[in-house]
Amino acid sequence: MRAFVDKDICIGCGLCASTEPDVFEIDDDGKAISKADTTEENRESVEACIEGCPVNAIREEE
Ligand code: SF4
Repeated sequence: MRAFVDKDICIGCGLCASTEPDVFEIDDDGKAISKADTTEENRESVEACIEGCPVNAIREEE
């Protein structure tokens, strides 16, 4: 599984990058990107990011 951020929707609040910095970071344009696959170790926090994103910009795909 891998999380993807829709940059057209992301408002750059930083919640995902602070919650799960192994997967998300804020890019030079101030929007989040995902940089790593979801693992067993970070699955719960990635799901918290997906649920917590204020604009529902994160989705997860196989
Ligand atoms: S939580 Fe959502 S809006 Fe905030 S930086 Fe991450 S993807 Fe963007």
